[in-house]
Amino acid sequence: MNLTNIIFIFTILTVVSAVKKTYDGYSLYKIIPKDNNEVNVLEEIKQKNLGEFWSDDFKIGLDAKIMVAPEKRDEFVQHVTNENIEATVAIEDIQTAINRQLNPDIIRASESYLSYSWSEYHNLNAIYTWLDELQTNHPDIAKTVVMGQSVENRDIKGIVINHHPERENKRIGMIEGTLHAREWISAATVTWIIKEFLTSDDPEIRALAENFEWHIFPVVNPDGYSYTFTDNRMWRKNRSPASIKTCPEGTDDDMSHGVDLNRNFDFQWLTVGASNDSCTNTFAGPTAFSEPETRAIAQYVGTLNEQGEFVYYIAFHSYTQLIIIPYSHVQSDGSLLSGNYGDMYEIAIRGADALRKRYGTTYRVGLSANVMYPMSGTSFDWVKHAYNVPVTYLMELRDIGEFGFLLPANQIIPTALETMDALVEMDRNTEKIGYYHASASGMFYSMTVVLAGVFVVLFY
Ligand SMILES: [Zn+2]
Repeated sequence: MNLTNIIFIFTILTVVSAVKKTYDGYSLYKIIPKDNNEVNVLEEIKQKNLGEFWSDDFKIGLDAKIMVAPEKRDEFVQHVTNENIEATVAIEDIQTAINRQLNPDIIRASESYLSYSWSEYHNLNAIYTWLDELQTNHPDIAKTVVMGQSVENRDIKGIVINHHPERENKRIGMIEGTLHAREWISAATVTWIIKEFLTSDDPEIRALAENFEWHIFPVVNPDGYSYTFTDNRMWRKNRSPASIKTCPEGTDDDMSHGVDLNRNFDFQWLTVGASNDSCTNTFAGPTAFSEPETRAIAQYVGTLNEQGEFVYYIAFHSYTQLIIIPYSHVQSDGSLLSGNYGDMYEIAIRGADALRKRYGTTYRVGLSANVMYPMSGTSFDWVKHAYNVPVTYLMELRDIGEFGFLLPANQIIPTALETMDALVEMDRNTEKIGYYHASASGMFYSMTVVLAGVFVVLFY
């Protein structure tokens, strides 16, 4: 091998190894703006690119989290000191938190099912392999389904769970996970729900599983999710190359290589809490439904709507611990727009109460504009608007910002357990309010038939 070849190979290796973004020395700062003046200072920090915000919307009283690169640290600290704003260090070294999230201390073998476990986070391949295993192990009730392909041509794979394929009138529930790539607890929790729906002995969980045909997709943004494992742990969007451009100093050009899928749906598209600039995390795309991932979800939801009584659509995100009710572009005076805000609020608040009982974790319930910030072009708002699915939420899972997207793996199971408590209680109330009647079919129906049989035998 001559020197040119060696240099050539060395160059390739350097390029490949240079791809993965590290967050060595990056710190996460927290600022809670107390007034409009401080909100403006946050805007300034954003304009000056002194750091990358975990969310691009600022509001009085709402935590803002800013990742600050080591080379920007002095300038950032100087700036907040000059403005007399309190900025606390939430995570000293982000790469250490990322490493810890990938290599949890405790591996508990009992918390696993087939090849999958909930004591660590898993990449896309592991999740898809597990879905195939589920179909093999539960052939009568579980079937994998591919709703479409991503920009980079990965399958968007999920599973359909139907404990009673013999039933003629189907009730349908759909669960969407990980539309935002870096929100790993979403995929982890949604896979737990799948496992519970297939294997739980708890009668209430079984009832929730059996009363519906469930369509569950742990990762609807497979390119972005894969990218968080291979290249950039903090990636949020899909990987659409259509709007790649040179970004302002301080922002990687790679930031423009993607669309925020939860701003790309064709309802109130680009009206509020979204950006037309591809160098931001909330880029809504060149047009509504410009992305194959959002079109696939919309099309799938449309076909489901024709197959039966569509009762639930729940999208899982993180973090902030919220149950968000449609619609997200309106303030509280617009809550009536969804038609059944009061019922959805009642169902959610009871779910949040049940969730709190296990570990004391508190969730807030309401419109996005009230509990977080207004936004538009989201999947769950679009589903509510297009098909008036009665019980539609976006749940922001743990935590409230201590670790944020980097939630340690030892919190996966607690998060999943309390979320399941909420779902069961929400379902109890959904039925109580009258959105469906379990007694009209299924378990209660079979019991009635059995009882009638006994009655006939006894009195013959
Ligand atoms: Zn999200």
